Amino acid sequence: MVPDSRQNMIENERKILHIIAKRNGMTKKEIADSLNLSWATVVKITKRLEQNGFIKFQGRPERKNIQGVDSAVFALSSNNPTAIGIDMGYNETNIIITNLSNEILYHKLVPNPTLESIDDITGFLETCITETLEDKSGDWVIQGVGVGIPAFILPDKRDFYIKIRKTLNEKFRIPVHIDRNVRGYALYKRFQHNREGNYIVLTIRTGIGLGIILNDGLFRGESNMAGELSHTTVPGLEGVCRCGQTGCLETGLNYAVLSEDYRGMALKSGLPGDVPYPPTELMKLSSEGNLPALDILKKRSRILAQAIKPLLLILNVSRITVAGQFGEYGQVFTDLVNEALSEMLSLRIDHAISYEKLDLLDFAIGSSYLILEDFIS
Ligand SMILES: [Zn+2]
Repeated sequence: MVPDSRQNMIENERKILHIIAKRNGMTKKEIADSLNLSWATVVKITKRLEQNGFIKFQGRPERKNIQGVDSAVFALSSNNPTAIGIDMGYNETNIIITNLSNEILYHKLVPNPTLESIDDITGFLETCITETLEDKSGDWVIQGVGVGIPAFILPDKRDFYIKIRKTLNEKFRIPVHIDRNVRGYALYKRFQHNREGNYIVLTIRTGIGLGIILNDGLFRGESNMAGELSHTTVPGLEGVCRCGQTGCLETGLNYAVLSEDYRGMALKSGLPGDVPYPPTELMKLSSEGNLPALDILKKRSRILAQAIKPLLLILNVSRITVAGQFGEYGQVFTDLVNEALSEMLSLRIDHAISYEKLDLLDFAIGSSYLILEDFIS
């Protein structure tokens, strides 16, 4: 393990590392052309990145029309930079080691012990991190640990993120960053989709998560509470929420609500009620033009659109990714959200809501970006 080398990275190093990560192998000329940097700068920086073990010489393929130019191709090293990404759920926790190519170099799933206090969580994370660092099956250069923790895991505690982070940073030699799960995921998606400037990621799981990136950085708010879209009131909703309020967005839209809608629809057609009704199927049926399925999604998409509308009006961020475990056909839902927003908003407010399939380890990869984001620009 090496000391934290992030502080020494200059902007152009991050840019070059980023573009090599995206392109999966580039020559110095290609780097210079794509980033509009001078040949001398690229030569100097690639040399430094190679010496620090971030990139490696990949080969020297025969290429036409580049006579006289160094044709060495550089690629990312797979073992540096790497980070531990921890996605703590309510019942179990995924721990991975990953790199800027998002390869899963190590994975462990552990059930959560009883977590009722800040000390419980800190102790559990300390064990997770220690065990991962002790695993010697790869020669990974681990630059830090990113941990995603749901905001409501300790419902009555404020600012527990800061306390846990402080204790863990004193314990380990590498930096430990802790944030809400969705925020790391937003950083990961921004990197994956090359999104600069402003970007919002919304996840639909038990509740609605919101990761807000403004002016290229995560927006956390005054007391780390930014993104509580799940608990904004939507007119027409009357359910009591786990936060104690009535009519919160998450009572009208979450994974279980969609599943229950689908069950209700199935019961009406005489199908059994005691089997699972995953929203994935509901999305598929809608995409095939099934009208009752479409009606359900229209109703739920309007609820989401009502909650997103003020967000668009206040922040004017047009690109929003909606992520959920809705399989290959989730776009049918976000198309309906766009449709509803077009009715609700003036033509001058742009909105491009797109769907992203949420895979099991995506939040763990996201957590690692709380560290890895410092290596790219
Ligand atoms: Zn609520």
